[in-house]
Amino acid sequence: MDAPVPLEAPPCPVCGGEDYAPVLTGARDHVWRKPGTFDLQACGGCGLVALRPRPTPAALGFYYEGTYSGEGEDGMRGFQTESGLGRLISRYRLAVMRKVRALGPDDHVLDVGCSYGGFLRVARADTGCRTSGIDLDAGSIEKAVDRDQATYHVGLLTDVDLPEGDFTTITFFESLEHHTEPVAALKRAHALLAPGGACVVEVPNFGGLWRRVFRTSWLPLLVPQHLFHFTPDTLARTFQAAGFRTVAHHQTMFYPLEGVASLGIWLARVTKAPPMGAPPSWRTPFDIVLFLLLVALWFVVELPSQAILRWTGLAGHQMAIAVKDAEG
Ligand SMILES: [Zn+2]
Repeated sequence: MDAPVPLEAPPCPVCGGEDYAPVLTGARDHVWRKPGTFDLQACGGCGLVALRPRPTPAALGFYYEGTYSGEGEDGMRGFQTESGLGRLISRYRLAVMRKVRALGPDDHVLDVGCSYGGFLRVARADTGCRTSGIDLDAGSIEKAVDRDQATYHVGLLTDVDLPEGDFTTITFFESLEHHTEPVAALKRAHALLAPGGACVVEVPNFGGLWRRVFRTSWLPLLVPQHLFHFTPDTLARTFQAAGFRTVAHHQTMFYPLEGVASLGIWLARVTKAPPMGAPPSWRTPFDIVLFLLLVALWFVVELPSQAILRWTGLAGHQMAIAVKDAEG
């Protein structure tokens, strides 16, 4: 039996509402296989979907141990900072940002949830901008790259002492959904930006097709690490609640494998292999056959479908860019 996890159910960070309706029940951590069953609920006031109730901030520490970074995650560090796909993802993000404003040597970028600093490395190399990064995980900041060329901070954006008005661009790539207080984080970003500065948020799209098809098997559900789930509409409302004006929205994909990875999670669930609580392996014949099947589907279904999903507004991820208007 799962050990009880201390839970909390705070009001909606966007509208303050406490009237919630169920969206998904019985979601589990199918990626790292940590214990616990969780529900997602939508705020009746603004529609923002939240993990509710959710582990307290202290209890969340358990769900991050050995997951995103830190000990035993050298593979993730290499992927983010050195691999061709890692660089491609960073360049893709820069290309979307260029639609609003190109970065240059006069820019100072702050990446919130920067992990090992992979995006900052590419941004600096390609545009000459100054770079800073912040992450709650001390382990990844300890191993962050190019420490002589970037400034790194450990902690929450709302707690760390940073110079207000010093940044021209603040990015949250796959990070806003992890914040216990996303509006407070964006308000802090607003204060740290110079007038006219841009805030870039990339998060999963809760309105996407794969989410609707796979429900609690959808890869980016990532309970209980993902505390909030945004649609294009609720992301714009979240920006607005923090004083930003959204100027661009882009349907995107993150790692282009959401569909097949979600199918893999679903297959592992219905075949009960491996059982919850066991670490993922890829060593049994079943694992290998499943892996080959997913690779085939990736080429035949996932890759060709990306253009259609983007065009119909049903992609698995989204990037939105909002600006801090000059006062007056
Ligand atoms: Zn709300």
